Formats: sequence, structure tokens, C-alpha cells
Amino acid sequence: MTAQQAPGVRVHLASRNAKKVAEMQRILAAHLPGIEVVGLDDVPAYDEPVEDAPDFDGNALIKARAGFEATGLPTLADDSGLCVDALNGMPGVLSARWSGPPKSDERNNALLLAQLADVPDERRAAFFHCSVAFVDGPGVTGETVVPGRMRGRVIREVRGDGGFGYDVLFEADELPGRTTAELSREEKDAISHRGRALRALGPVVAARLA
Ligand code: IMP
Repeated sequence: MTAQQAPGVRVHLASRNAKKVAEMQRILAAHLPGIEVVGLDDVPAYDEPVEDAPDFDGNALIKARAGFEATGLPTLADDSGLCVDALNGMPGVLSARWSGPPKSDERNNALLLAQLADVPDERRAAFFHCSVAFVDGPGVTGETVVPGRMRGRVIREVRGDGGFGYDVLFEADELPGRTTAELSREEKDAISHRGRALRALGPVVAARLA
């Protein structure tokens, strides 16, 4: 039986970022039909781990392992962020909390604009990275991590009201002239770091749940 044919197969998506979860559920629905994706609110509460790995792969795995151990369900988790060339790859894994607590997209964007104020247009290249981890068993044999990237540049003023996080300041190389907050959901999913990683992971998840 394939995952597509298996009624009642549930995958747990360990993230509290509602907009990110919506993106992931949308992309997964297109690539893993028949699999029910449940969020953190649909499973008994558990202590969520500290994301203290130095890289995206490590943090995605920390979250997916904790979700699998707590729920017993095959668990997906992502870790993502914006890496800016002129800032030596920052904010990177610190993207969500770059301007300090409490987490605020607005303050993060203001800080990014301030940090890049004197950086000329030709040196504003950046990329979004997303690592998605899938854990459905103990030890390394039960773990898979897949990366995805979207290259582009940081603009000088916020534009658009879609997406989340730094989308209002980012124009993708593949769809220039609009920020990723001005793209339709389908346009963003087709080129995004998260879309790429999830599409690459889809067949692995389907095979493991078969
Ligand atoms: P995480 O929840 O630790 O993975 O944090 C990811 C952070 O990176 C988000 O809070 C955003 O600030 C940023 N980020 C990741 N993906 C995107 C995206 O698709 N658009 C805009 N910002 C993103």
C-alpha cells in the first residue's frame, strides 16, 4: 500500500509558527495526498526543546526528534532563516529572534534595514534557507534532513502583505520586481526554500509511510 492509498496515516508537524505551518500544510497536501498533517495543537502538549544547534539541519532535527519522542507519530520539523551576504550569513539560524525577545517580524525587518542602510544595491544579495527534518524512528536510520534554498536580494523598504517574516524585504532572483510578500501563494511555493525542501522530502516520507 502506498502512502497515498493509506487512509488514516498521520504526520505530525512540529512548529508553532502558524503562517509557516499553513505554507507547509499547503505544499504537503499537493505532494502527499491522503496523509493527515496534524499540528502541535492537535497532540498532547510536551516540553518543546531548546533550538541550540549551530546550523539549520541541527535545529530541524532537534525539533523533529522531540516531536517524535513525545507523540510517537512520524514528525516533520523545519528550521529556516535569511542569510545575508553583506552580514556574513546573518541573521541565519537567529532569524526569528534577531532583534531580541519577544519575537517580532516588524522589529527584525527594521533591524535588517538599519544594518544594510549603507550597503549598495549590488551587495544586497541574500538567500533563504530551509532544512526540513523527518523522524519516524529512533537513531539515524529513522532520520532524514533535506535542504532547500531561494536566492535573491534585500530591498530598501518594506513592500507587500503576504507571506511572513522577512518576505516584505526580499525579492527572489527567479521572480524579480516583487517581494515574496507580493507573490501569490502558488508563486512563492514554487520557488521557495520551504517548497523545494518539502518537495524533495515528499517521496522519502511517502516511501517510509508505505
Ligand atoms: P524558525 O521558526 O526558527 O525556523 O524561524 C524562521 C525565521 O526565519 C522566521 O521567523 C522568519 O523570520 C525567517 N523566515 C524563514 N522562512 C521565511 C520565509 O519564507 N519568508 C520570510 N521569512 C522567513
